[in-house]
Amino acid sequence: MNTSIAENLSRVRAQIEAACQAAGRSPHSVSLLAVSKTWGPEAVRDAHEAGQTAFGENYIQEAVDKIGALRDLPLQWHCIGPIQSNKTRLVAEHFDWVHSVDRLKIAQRLSEQRPAELPPLQVCIQVNVDGGETKSGISPQELPALAQAVAALPRLQLRGLMTIPERAETDAQMRAVHAQAKALFDNLRSQGLPLDTLSMGMSADMAAAIAEGSTMVRVGTAIFGRR
Ligand SMILES: *Cc1c(COP(=O)(O)O)cnc(C)c1O
Repeated sequence: MNTSIAENLSRVRAQIEAACQAAGRSPHSVSLLAVSKTWGPEAVRDAHEAGQTAFGENYIQEAVDKIGALRDLPLQWHCIGPIQSNKTRLVAEHFDWVHSVDRLKIAQRLSEQRPAELPPLQVCIQVNVDGGETKSGISPQELPALAQAVAALPRLQLRGLMTIPERAETDAQMRAVHAQAKALFDNLRSQGLPLDTLSMGMSADMAAAIAEGSTMVRVGTAIFGRR
């Protein structure tokens, strides 16, 4: 048992709780996704022993191997990395959640390839809120149409949005970007989409994201160490 992973997890959980308290939110309104990319099955086992069940992965093949090695544990796997068309089948067959859907074609393939014996794939649409040119993510303008189309796919369940904003210079700027994501999220909800997940905030901007309404923070380094 790696005690530093257990200690890191309890520190991160305490930080989430403090950020919730500062924002006047219930600590149960924000869940923690432990980002285990590049770390082996043993690190995930240690985190599970310390009470963590949801894990995020970026690299599909690496994740599939890890998921196979950890089949004995009741873990929930989230794909948070870019998805090429030729990788959709692996994602549809092995993951519980996908945060990084940003094109209808990928969503359609995931829906077609989701095995019938598994529950619907839980999906967030990745939105490029701050307009970084080379970044993945759909533009805010194109988001409503994509969201409606994804919500209509039979083997996917649209749960919300995911963002990876650039690091801003000040906390106020960071919060402004997170607030834009929250506004897009609220707008989709007001159009009747039953969304409950805003996947927003990483090790560095967790508190700002929680202050602006994040419901799931994705933390790697602060749990597992430097990659
Ligand atoms: C790597 C990664 C994270 C975790 O980042 P840390 O800085 O290690 O906490 C979160 N989200 C995504 C999409 C990532 O690729």
